[in-house]
Amino acid sequence: MPKLVVFGSVAFDSIRTPFGEANEVLGGAAVYASVAASFFTHAGIVSGIGKDFPKEWTELLRKRNISTEGLKIAGEKTFRWKGYYEYDMASAHTVSTELNVMEGLMPELPGSYRKAPYVFLANLHPEQQLHVLDQMDNPRLSILDTMNYWITNEKEKLMNLIKKIDILLLNDAEARQLFSTPNLIAAGRRALAYGPGACIIKKGEHGVLLFTEKEIFSLPGYPLETVRDPTGAGDSFAGGLAGFLAKAGAMDEKALRKAMVYGSAIASYTVEGFGLDRLRSLTNPDIQQRYKEFEKIVRF
Ligand code: AMP
Repeated sequence: MPKLVVFGSVAFDSIRTPFGEANEVLGGAAVYASVAASFFTHAGIVSGIGKDFPKEWTELLRKRNISTEGLKIAGEKTFRWKGYYEYDMASAHTVSTELNVMEGLMPELPGSYRKAPYVFLANLHPEQQLHVLDQMDNPRLSILDTMNYWITNEKEKLMNLIKKIDILLLNDAEARQLFSTPNLIAAGRRALAYGPGACIIKKGEHGVLLFTEKEIFSLPGYPLETVRDPTGAGDSFAGGLAGFLAKAGAMDEKALRKAMVYGSAIASYTVEGFGLDRLRSLTNPDIQQRYKEFEKIVRF
């Protein structure tokens, strides 16, 4: 029985960066997040795939102890995303998004997923995210991600969902847009006023901010010299964070801070390779090593 349910896109990604190119490789927010989480806990992925989805990819997830019972064939074609990054690798430029089976997908959660105590809702339509959350029996902790498109087009539904979840994840631009302020500290505080116990604002290579009722914590980005492909960094962070919290069984300030370090360590590996390449060869000692380096970096 999975301990953490991960809902989001499962994709064929086509990516170009100044350092290389990949065509129709396995990607999607739910894939990055569940693979990252699998280093800590038993995750169960829920999403839609097309008849064109290779069996080896489902097998790859299964071999990582990720339940794929919630991965259902929902039509002919799997979701496809094509994008590129410029020299600074700061943000993805989308060339095309083909929703295919993800369009309006309202998946039914397998019985074995419903009792899972943890859930991560990766970026999709807030109605789809709510549909999955509503099927969970009584999760101890729910984590929500979103993107600028939903903030612009479905703000009311998104705000209603934010009232129901425990941790809100945003990147800096989304935080400014959603809470109508240029200041991230003000944005983080405003997020908490809607109900989540914590808000985490991701600042890409510049690190992450955590807001809770009592404290603000700031973690720098891991000082990386090799960044080949930033795709999946945000979702790897979220999966690592959620997976660690599921394993720790705690959600106090200390556990949240540690979870952020683990999420950042995994995301720093993700971007070193193309697509899922680096995550696939990653080991627990690798993660532990970067966790220790983070400890040294923030000590003063
Ligand atoms: P990130 O962690 O933000 O880099 O997310 C990268 C993943 O998001 C890619 O693997 C894409 O397949 C997926 N993606 C891109 N656009 C969308 C979208 N509109 N809805 C859901 N997933 C998306």
